Amino acid sequence: MFIKSTAKRFALLIIGSQLLGSPALLTSFASGDGGEPSTEKEATKEETVAPAPSPNIARLGRIPDWTRLDPYQESMSREEFIYLLRHCYVRNDGDFKDYMVFRHDRVLIMKQSNYPEAGYYELRFKPENKIPEVKSRFWRPANELNDLPENSSKPLQDLVIAVDPGHIGGEWTTWDDRHFKIGKDTIAVEEGVMTLKVAKILERDLTQLGATVVLTRATENPVTADRIEDLHDEARAYLIRKRKTPSSGLIAATAKRMFAISSEIRARADLVNENFKPDLALCLHFNASPWGSRPSFRKSNHLHLLINGCYAAYEVAEDDTRLEMLLRILQRVYYEEVALADDIISTLQDETDLPAAYYDGTNGKSINDNDYLWSRNLLANRMFLCPVIFFEPYCMNHVETHARVQAGEYRGLQEFKGVFRKNIYQEYADGVTAGLVNYFRRNR
Ligand SMILES: [Zn+2]
Repeated sequence: MFIKSTAKRFALLIIGSQLLGSPALLTSFASGDGGEPSTEKEATKEETVAPAPSPNIARLGRIPDWTRLDPYQESMSREEFIYLLRHCYVRNDGDFKDYMVFRHDRVLIMKQSNYPEAGYYELRFKPENKIPEVKSRFWRPANELNDLPENSSKPLQDLVIAVDPGHIGGEWTTWDDRHFKIGKDTIAVEEGVMTLKVAKILERDLTQLGATVVLTRATENPVTADRIEDLHDEARAYLIRKRKTPSSGLIAATAKRMFAISSEIRARADLVNENFKPDLALCLHFNASPWGSRPSFRKSNHLHLLINGCYAAYEVAEDDTRLEMLLRILQRVYYEEVALADDIISTLQDETDLPAAYYDGTNGKSINDNDYLWSRNLLANRMFLCPVIFFEPYCMNHVETHARVQAGEYRGLQEFKGVFRKNIYQEYADGVTAGLVNYFRRNR
C-alpha cells in the first residue's frame, strides 16, 4: 500500500529531474552513447601519465566491486532513482552531481572519484512499460511473508530479525566514550551495557512472538578480532590518504575510532550480511546530550529513530560508500524502513512519553516531516544490507534517565516524579515490540 502513495510523492519531483545532468559533465561525454569516456588521447601519452591515485575509501572500507550493481540493471526507473537520491539519500541536492552523469535512459557512475580514467559504471534505468522487479536481496518486505492465520498469537512467525546492541560493554566501555559516572556511589552509565540489556529482552519477547532473533553481540566483548594496537599502521595509511599529517596523537585517536567504530561495525555487518541475512535489523542505542569536558546533567530528554540517508558530498565521494548507498537505493529499503519506523515511533512514544529530537539540518535530514524520523549515514545503517531501524531514545545524562539506570531492571512499576514506570530497559523493548507487532499484523 505505501508504495502507491510514495509513487505519488516522487511523481511530484519528476518535473525537476530534467535539470539533474550537469551540463559540463554531459558535454564531456557527448560523443559516446553513455559508454565509458574516451581515453584515446591519454593512451598516446601513456608513459608520461602519473600513476592512478589511491582510491578514496572510507575507514577500513574495501575497494568496491561495481559488478554488484549488475543484478539491478533496468530494475528502477529514472524518476524513482532520482526521487530516492534527493528525497532521502543526499544531504544537499547537488551532492551527487560530480560522480553521476544522468542520461535519459541510464546513469554513469564514476568508479573512482579522484580518477575519472578508471571509468564509469553504466546503470540502465527501467524502461517505461517494464514491470518493476526487485532483485538480488536477502531480506523480504512484510508483504512477501506468508499470510498469518487469523488471530495468530505469533505475528512475527517466519521473520528473521537481527538485533544489534550498539557499542561494546565490560572493560571496553571506556574505549568508545559512551559512558560516564556522576556522583559518588552511583552505578556508571554505560551505553554498551544498557543496549545489551534491551537486546536480551527483545530476543526473549520477539522469539515468543514467532520471530527468529539473532544478536550481533551477545556478550559485552567486541565482535571484531582487531585491537587498537593492531590498527596503528592502518590509521597512519588512512590519514596519509586523506592528506592529514599523521602525528602520533592523531594516529592513536584514529586507531581508537577504527577499532571501536569501523572495525567493530564492519565485523557485525559481515555477520548480518553473510550469516544472518535477516529481514530487518534493529540497532539499539541510547542518546546523550553533549557534556563538554566533564559529564554533567543536561535538560534535554528525547526520542528519535534514524534510517540511512543524508550522505554529505565527501561521503558520496568515497567509492565504497557510493556503491553502498546505491545498493540501498536499488533494493528499495527506504519504503520498508519508513513504514516500519512510523509504526514503531507511535508505540515507542506511547511507552516513553518522550518528545522528538531535532537536527539542525546539517547531519540529519528530516523524513516526511515526521519530527521523530530522520535520515543519517551511519556505518551500521549503511552496511547492514536490509531495512535498518536505528534507535536513539532517552538522553543518558538527563537526571531522570540517570535515576532510572540506577534503579536497574526491577519487576513491576516504580515511581519517578509521581509517575509509575516500568524499568527503562523493558519500557524501551516494549515500545519496539508493540510497533513491530502492529506493523506485521497489518502488512503481511
Ligand atoms: Zn550509541
